[in-house]
Order: sequence, then C-alpha cells, then structure tokens
Amino acid sequence: MNRRDCLKLGAFPLAAQRPAGAVETEIVRLNLRHTWTTTMSSSEFRETLHVRFRAQGITGRGEGAPIVRYQESAQTAQKAVQSVAEYLKTADPGQFSKVLAEVFRRIDGEWAAKAAIDIALMDWVGQKLGVPLYRYFGLDAADAPVTTFSIGMDKPEVVRQKIREAEPFPVLKVKVGLDTDEEMIASVRGATKKPLRVDANEGWKSKEEALRKINWLESQGVEFIEQPMPASLIDDIRWLRGKVHMPIIADEACLHPSDIPKLATAYDGVNVKIDKCGGMLEAFRMIQIARSLGLKVMLGCMISSSVACTAAAHLSPLVDYADLDGNLLIANDPFTGVRVEKGKLILPNRPGLGLIPA
Ligand code: MG
Repeated sequence: MNRRDCLKLGAFPLAAQRPAGAVETEIVRLNLRHTWTTTMSSSEFRETLHVRFRAQGITGRGEGAPIVRYQESAQTAQKAVQSVAEYLKTADPGQFSKVLAEVFRRIDGEWAAKAAIDIALMDWVGQKLGVPLYRYFGLDAADAPVTTFSIGMDKPEVVRQKIREAEPFPVLKVKVGLDTDEEMIASVRGATKKPLRVDANEGWKSKEEALRKINWLESQGVEFIEQPMPASLIDDIRWLRGKVHMPIIADEACLHPSDIPKLATAYDGVNVKIDKCGGMLEAFRMIQIARSLGLKVMLGCMISSSVACTAAAHLSPLVDYADLDGNLLIANDPFTGVRVEKGKLILPNRPGLGLIPA
C-alpha cells in the first residue's frame, strides 16, 4: 500500500470527512452481593456513571465510579460529562490526548466523569485500530498479576461465608481501621491461612495506635498495609515507616501525578486508581512517575462494573499488585470483560476494552 492509500484508508479521517459523534450518559445502579462496609460507609448498592461515545460506526464505552470522599456523586459526574458533550461530538477521537487535555481543562474536579470519558475514548481508539488496549500500551497480557479479593467488614459468620466464596483467590484483602480490627482479622484467620493485604482507609488516628496495630498485623501474615492513617499526616507515616517492616502503600493520599513525588519520602508504594486520577492515560502517567521514584505500584478500583475494572486491568501488566475485584462484588454486571482464573487477571484479547454485553 502506498502512502496515499494509507492516508485514504487511515484509521482517523480528517475533520472534513468525519460525521459528528454522539455522547450518551447513564447512571447505573450496581447491586452489591453483600452489604459493603468500610471505615467510610456501609451500602447495599453503588451508582456509577456510564458513558457511550459513538463515532464512525464504533461505540466506545466508559465508566466512572464517583467517590463520596471527594464530594462526587453519579449526578454531579453526569452533569460534568454533559457539560463537554457538545465539544466531544465534534472532537477528533484520534487526537485523544489533545481531546482529554481539553476535557481536563473544561471540567473542574469530577474525576469519575473524566475517567468515564477517557475510558470511552480509549475503548473507541482500540476498536478503531483493531487492538486490545493492553497491546496499544505495549504490554504483555501474560504479565497481568494476581488480583486480591476484598473481604469487607462483617460479623464472623458472614466473614467465613465470604472467605468460602473467595476460594479461587490466592491472596485476600481485608478492610480494617475500626475498634474491631482484632476480631475481624481473627475471624479471617480462623477460616484461612492465605496471605492477606490490609487496608485501613485512614482509620487509625494516632501514629502510636497505627504502630501497635501494624506490629500485630505483621504477626498475622499480612503482606502490606494501605493508608493506615489520614492522608494529611505524611510526617506520621514517615515516622511509622521507620519503625515497621511491612510496606506502607498510599491510597487516599495519592490522587494525581503531582502527589507522587512527596509521597516517595514517606511511603513504599502508591495505589493508582482510574476513578481517582481521571482515566487510563493519567493512570499510565502515574505508574511511570511512581516507578521513576522507586515506588511499588498497586492498581486499585472502586466498586464498579466490568467497564471500569477492565480498563484498569489493561494496565495491570505494569504493576506489582492488583486489587481489581470491584466487578466481582456486584450482582448485576452489565458486561463481561476481564476474567479471573485462580486469582490471575485474564485480559480480553478483543479490540479496545474487549467488552461483551452480559
Ligand atoms: Mg484503599
């Protein structure tokens, strides 16, 4: 094929040849398999924002899970996407980096909304180019890590039931950060000897309490601790890090690329989430920055459907730890995408995100 043919058949037609795109939003209620309790809330369902970007006969799908801690809701996310819908309809999705930079400039905050737009555009681009997104990012699906399966706080008999359900997963994640931590870990340990990763969600309020709890957790087969204390207490985390053996991972303290350099002085790693930072491109950037500073990288997710979890999974070959079970905690996932076999993430080998309606 000569250059002219190549341009004629090019994946991304010029504006003059391009019909306008379409943007649709929908708030989807995801029902949880179990009541979900952390230090922050307890809930039976979650609402996420789904975005469909249609252009040139291709539909890209995106999803963002709004985070209450950052004053987001599905409704505010929907409004934010609608505020840039006219711009997106005439934008060139082939120039997705430029388009997303403009979306970031036009929308203040509302990271779940930005994530939903980014994922929809990247799904579109992957489908247009005919490649799965992990290949677009130059990754090997065989490098995808094991994901943990999260066991939410609950009564001992329910914890035992959840652990039975988590049988295929070699590593479990347990939420702590309340006065009942010892009982929670004891009920988990009564049911399994699997390695545990623990998330305190900022629950311990003094460094002395955190030190005491972490020393105890070290005796309980815990691999690392996520966000033991409030995000703002970076000096206390630095103090703590000098006194414990297990790695300390920043989650609530790590939202955007610019957060990472200062965290490298106090934490051993960061938990990158597409919903916190505003999409796959931003998450990719965060992973590179964290690596350049010698930090461990974890990829997490919110409770969401297979749309957002599969988007994160396509980047998972880049990270040390994955916690991508948000879609496994819900009962009405509208799509099939990333799968899990014996805990390992299996990436879809279809163009874009590779989603199939359930
Ligand atoms: Mg966390």
